[in-house]
Amino acid sequence: MIKVNDLYVEYQVNKGFLGGKQTIHAVNGVNLEIKKGEILALAGESGCGKSTLAKAILQLEPIKSGEIISDTKGQMIFQNPYASLNPKMKIGEILREPLEINTDYSKQKITEIVKEKIKLVGLDENCLELYPHEFSGGQRQRIAIARALMLNPEFILADEPVSALDVSIQAQIINLLKELKENFGLTFLLITHDMSVIKYLADRTAVMYLGEIVEIGKTADIFANPLHPYTKALLGAVPQINKKDKKILLKGDLPSPADLPKGCKFHTRCPKVMEKCKTCHPDEIGSSHVVKCFLYNSVL
Ligand code: SF4
Repeated sequence: MIKVNDLYVEYQVNKGFLGGKQTIHAVNGVNLEIKKGEILALAGESGCGKSTLAKAILQLEPIKSGEIISDTKGQMIFQNPYASLNPKMKIGEILREPLEINTDYSKQKITEIVKEKIKLVGLDENCLELYPHEFSGGQRQRIAIARALMLNPEFILADEPVSALDVSIQAQIINLLKELKENFGLTFLLITHDMSVIKYLADRTAVMYLGEIVEIGKTADIFANPLHPYTKALLGAVPQINKKDKKILLKGDLPSPADLPKGCKFHTRCPKVMEKCKTCHPDEIGSSHVVKCFLYNSVL
């Protein structure tokens, strides 16, 4: 459905007190395929380039080089359902808007579609006359999901869709996303730092570090047999992973994407670092389970 080849995205930011500009290397040579009907998760720490990559895939971010081949248009579900709904508009108006702008459907047809979508996300049509502030966080996220569905997209980018919600209602939204995928064959790119959410929802998982995908494979394989030291560190933070040999504690902060380390970008924090990691960049190894690390020097 979507193929990304050797993608680079960078942008300029102000240096602050020092004056002048600096270049942020947000996405650095990403190759990725998103298959129809799957949930592909992008995992990694805040600032690792997940959101920039996802926005570039939706053509919301200009690219420096590489290519994105896509036969579909996507919609986006944002992290914060408090900020993503216009507080001055009734829910019915919010949901009608995409159809009024993008189609020539009659008012009656738009009303029918709005009622259908609001039921689909588990809400009553009476809520169409209410304003966003009259709903809980979980209900607002359901409304945001309904809005994303209005134009029948095949592909949805969900950027940290539950991280702004109470833990007690996160599971409801996660289950709703799973139902939408299973019942309508929707394809999702799921961005999250929460490995528990990934384990439950995602068919495949890509782990990002400083704008690179360092490991990608089926979620079951990544959790059962993580290869990259960074993936092991991320999984070490998930309480249910208790095999001692897989626990790696992540030390130090993520280096600045304005000043990328040479060689393997993880070498400044890697407990397995070798001399060559400091100067040479590892290639991708493997086919269905792919890793970029010198610890693996043959096809997996
Ligand atoms: Fe660690 Fe070297 Fe592998 Fe990078 S290439 S993850 S520094 S062992």
